[in-house]
Amino acid sequence: MEELNPFRIAQMQLDEAAEFLQLDSGTHEMLRWPMRELHVTIPVRMDDGKIKVFQGFRVQYNDARGPTKGGIRWHPEETVDTVRALAAWMTWKTSVVDIPYGGAKGGIICNPKDLSEGEKERLARGYIRALGRFIGPKKDIPAPDVYTTPQIMAWMMDEYSTITGYNTPGVITGKLIDVGGSLGRGDATARGGMFVLREAAYINDIDLSKATVAIQGYGNAGQYAHSLVEEMFASKVIAISDSKGGILNKNGLKAEKCISTKLKKGSVIALDGDKISNEELLELDVDVLIPAALENVITEKNAGKIKARIIVELANGPTTPEADKILHDKNCYVIPDFLANAGGVTVSYFEWVQNEAGYYWPIDRVYRELDKLMTKAFHFVHDMRANEKVHNRLAAYMVAVKRVVDAMKIRGWV
Ligand code: NAD
Repeated sequence: MEELNPFRIAQMQLDEAAEFLQLDSGTHEMLRWPMRELHVTIPVRMDDGKIKVFQGFRVQYNDARGPTKGGIRWHPEETVDTVRALAAWMTWKTSVVDIPYGGAKGGIICNPKDLSEGEKERLARGYIRALGRFIGPKKDIPAPDVYTTPQIMAWMMDEYSTITGYNTPGVITGKLIDVGGSLGRGDATARGGMFVLREAAYINDIDLSKATVAIQGYGNAGQYAHSLVEEMFASKVIAISDSKGGILNKNGLKAEKCISTKLKKGSVIALDGDKISNEELLELDVDVLIPAALENVITEKNAGKIKARIIVELANGPTTPEADKILHDKNCYVIPDFLANAGGVTVSYFEWVQNEAGYYWPIDRVYRELDKLMTKAFHFVHDMRANEKVHNRLAAYMVAVKRVVDAMKIRGWV
């Protein structure tokens, strides 16, 4: 399965849910393909005066439930198939948390490390000039993703506002606070993961204040997960890792110290404790495992050795389909990626709501509303799992796909 291209994998995952939901062939086929794809060619005047031409994409996968939503990636190896797959996954993610959006994704083939700030700005504005008619707060709402930043979002929003002739902050989310960003966006992914972890622990009769935790990956998602699991539940994090390796300390690792060490020394391996590999971290005897780095780290080879009782997938795609089945059979409770890490897009939705209303929320309201949506989504998926006797990922797919199908049917598409 790993050798397949990502869009093929996305289609296969849908196919499994479609079979369980007994979708008719027309409805199923409609969901297997993006609704609309835009390919654009963007000329950019470089700092040396010459024109360089870039290729970009925007895939709007399905908008039956609302305007499409998804990030823009800038990557030298970007392919339309990756963008298609990510657009499909965004459709299921917005649906599983029941926010009124469809799914989309965009990309530009470029290496941002080779571009000056001025070149980046001209590329960002050129992309919006090429796509402007097809996006908008009521049509398709981009956001930052791999190698795109809040500053790039600000240029894009500004260019779009120039085209429309009025301020349109709701065209893009993930903006800086000064230009219409939302409070609480920084830690939203990890915080959303904590709300669903709390529910999973309750169901599995685990007392989080006595629980041990291991976290793989120590970037945005991993660091916030560490701080929050400590702050919200007083759980003991005993192992963390990054690309250089991991550290195990059975007495517990405090978030503040770990984050400052990572910042000062570049890696968590400078901390006190036993050095372990990333593979060993996954197999530790902990209550909660939080993969927050790469895809395909839990496979049929190591799934049988995993001892955690709950896995919170903050990373995208950490578990292979074969591993899913093994984990389900051994009663490990996996909170699948597109549910566990949906806090980010949910707070992006709050940002858009605030932009459209022109009224900005205090932080406690952001947390409260995030908790409400994540908790509700978790229980929908858990109930589907219990009723259909399937593993959590399939249950999450079934909840998400069914909502999109219902919207398509009510609108008379299928
Ligand atoms: P990041 O770039 O901030 O951090 C990634 C971390 O992973 C770094 O600490 C890096 O050292 C570590 N890493 C890299 N290779 C590794 C390896 N081989 N073994 C162990 N660790 C390794 O990224 P992030 O924003 O924290 O995202 C992490 C994951 O979460 C990704 O899968 C991403 O798609 C997913 N995610 C993030 C968000 C978000 O809002 N940040 C939202 C949804 C999903």
